[in-house]
Amino acid sequence: MFKIPNELTVGTATAKRGELQKGIIKGVELFDSTRIDIPVLVMNGVRDGPTVLMVSTQHGTEIQGAEVIIKVMREKVDSKALRGALIGIPVENPLAYMHSQYLSWIDNQDPGGGGSASPLTVDKPDGTATERLAHALWNEAWIKADMILNFHCNTRPDSLIFQKILTGNPKTRDDLWKMAKAFGVTTIVDGTPFNEDGPPTLVNLAAKHGKPAILLELIDGRWISEPSTSAGIRGVLNIMKAFDMIDGEIEPQEGFPIIPGVCKWQGVVRANRGGLIRFVRAPGDFLKEGEVFAEIYNLHGDILEEAKIPVDGYIWAYPCGDILGTAGSLQAVQTGANIAYVFTQESD
Ligand SMILES: [Zn+2]
Repeated sequence: MFKIPNELTVGTATAKRGELQKGIIKGVELFDSTRIDIPVLVMNGVRDGPTVLMVSTQHGTEIQGAEVIIKVMREKVDSKALRGALIGIPVENPLAYMHSQYLSWIDNQDPGGGGSASPLTVDKPDGTATERLAHALWNEAWIKADMILNFHCNTRPDSLIFQKILTGNPKTRDDLWKMAKAFGVTTIVDGTPFNEDGPPTLVNLAAKHGKPAILLELIDGRWISEPSTSAGIRGVLNIMKAFDMIDGEIEPQEGFPIIPGVCKWQGVVRANRGGLIRFVRAPGDFLKEGEVFAEIYNLHGDILEEAKIPVDGYIWAYPCGDILGTAGSLQAVQTGANIAYVFTQESD
């Protein structure tokens, strides 16, 4: 059974039973000695239950989850009726966020360990700015949680809202499925066996400690907009209901496409030519193998390449340009640019 402490402390915030408190996790200092901290909300319930950590904006251009966390903790959940506890970190990566960039302008590192052959780990308290933030995030927040809701966003508003679960770890598989079914959006499942000896990134360490961490991808990441806010709030409350933290029936998601069943990531389609790009099919449309979904054309208007889907499946987002795919930059590509993220539906 999940237990909560009489006092739950994260950074400078300590919440007694039935309280919501605000504080910060101590961060790093800039050239002018200004300190950049990580704001945190801590809500301790009145009865035992799981401690759920909600984090957003590990990537600085993905802010929709911040609003979801703030709304859930300030408006939707009553600490006097809560079974368990909530920890909310609206912006995990304040250095990237403050410059409207995907990663920090200081060291270009990802506190979650993504996008690199040697992923950033949480075991370097004497490391770079972002390594120190990751160290603080693990030791102050992630380690205290029983489960983690990790909010990200694709940048474009026509992308598909989806969630991703890693089912290759028997310690967390059942809880992850329970969370995904409750949250209720398109579910990408990655069954790669979990490696206990993998590098100690936030996500790997959580898995090693048996803490299920679900990745939630909202859309239109640079803005606070619908349907992301409603989908995020509904999904969080559904998970809390599924784990008996609050009363109420699970509400089905609505207002955006959902591909049901088990879906599988298939990879990125990249551009072979450079130019402007127009999309002729929408994310969430079913496409047959070889169907054209986009055209790359030059500045005379001649079509240089028709981009085709390599499998019978779906596209969840058109990243456009930047290699990380979330730049929200121009609707134009160079050779090698990410055009589309592709997935298949494996079962209903
Ligand atoms: Zn992200």
